[in-house]
Amino acid sequence: MPASTHKTLKIDGSTGEGGGQIIRTALSLSMLTGTPIEITNIRAGRAKPGLMRQHLMCVQASQQISNAVVTGAHLGSMVFTFTPSTVQAGDYTFDIGSAGSTSLVLQTLLPALLFANTDANQKSTITITGGTHNPLAPTTDFLQHAFVPLLAKLGMQVDIECLQAGFAPIGGGVIKTTIAPFMRRASAPRLDLTERGKLNRIELVASVLNLEYDICKRELASAKAALIEAGIDEALTTTRGNKLCGIGEGNTCYAIITHQLGDQNEAKTTAKTSTNTNTHQEVFSLLGEKRSSAENIGKRLAGHIRRYLYDTDALLDEYLTDQLLLPLALSGGGTFSARVISEHSKTQAWLIEQFLPVAITFDAIEDKQILVKITC
Ligand code: ATP
Repeated sequence: MPASTHKTLKIDGSTGEGGGQIIRTALSLSMLTGTPIEITNIRAGRAKPGLMRQHLMCVQASQQISNAVVTGAHLGSMVFTFTPSTVQAGDYTFDIGSAGSTSLVLQTLLPALLFANTDANQKSTITITGGTHNPLAPTTDFLQHAFVPLLAKLGMQVDIECLQAGFAPIGGGVIKTTIAPFMRRASAPRLDLTERGKLNRIELVASVLNLEYDICKRELASAKAALIEAGIDEALTTTRGNKLCGIGEGNTCYAIITHQLGDQNEAKTTAKTSTNTNTHQEVFSLLGEKRSSAENIGKRLAGHIRRYLYDTDALLDEYLTDQLLLPLALSGGGTFSARVISEHSKTQAWLIEQFLPVAITFDAIEDKQILVKITC
């Protein structure tokens, strides 16, 4: 297959939030639409500008799955070009070579592989080695319990296994993802995730990698006590401790909060698909830090939960909001309620509109939530 004959789209990488997300989303959309791209001013405002190892891996992995022609991509580079050919479903293995985030590499490749070889109905697998629990990135737990269930609501079947956990500075984590080709049906209902129904449960999970299990117990006890103090019904909260396998050391503590969808949303969605459409799961996660006690981590986690339960009526919190925009635009659009619109979300919306014929709007419907709408 010859490289694309589309006109090159020039993207200023310092626009809006100006971080690595512009590179990843531009790569995804370039592969999906066959549009060649040139990205300049890459991460220009960051302390260490240019392509870091994780971003370079995103470029190289995208090149491999789409047989792209790439120029100028190397560590520290502030400009590169990427001209994709056809995305090929298959079994791929990538090693970031550092503790860089496996989740962010996966999120770059996922959209393209969802739409690859839909005729042959061929599943793809991607195995990525690097960090599974990184600061300022989704953890594998976040992807499994918040992002994947949202994709399922859109009809996208993705399964993520954490084969080994990996924390900074050593990394060595491994995730394996299986992706079924996605075919959008004209009759599929548009996503409507606007109304929060009753709170079903809060699951608190703490995990350690080669550290004392006692850390989990202390984090869970402290988070639970803080929730009870905040007036959250004890009967709704469960706790679970885990010992992770992998090299290096690390600790994470997270909460899965499950809400029933409001009556209106439920009526529109449950009748039509068999997936978990009548609930929504939000995840908050923290990583253990040397200077912070287990009790403090537990309290901070409870603080995130409290803010989500009491300060907003929205279903999606900050991170799911920016991460849902691209899959939602690709699946035909829809509407959801968000607690906050970050610079990441605004930049993501701007970039998606450069490639796809969609309109993304953010409207404050009351002071406690914002309505996000994607129209195709
Ligand atoms: P840079 O180093 O240039 O800032 P980056 O490549 O590290 O860039 P960002 O561009 O900042 O990454 O994008 C980070 C992504 O990680 C966003 O999609 C954001 O939603 C997600 N993210 C950050 N923190 C969390 C968290 N605690 N839980 C879930 N997702 C998160």
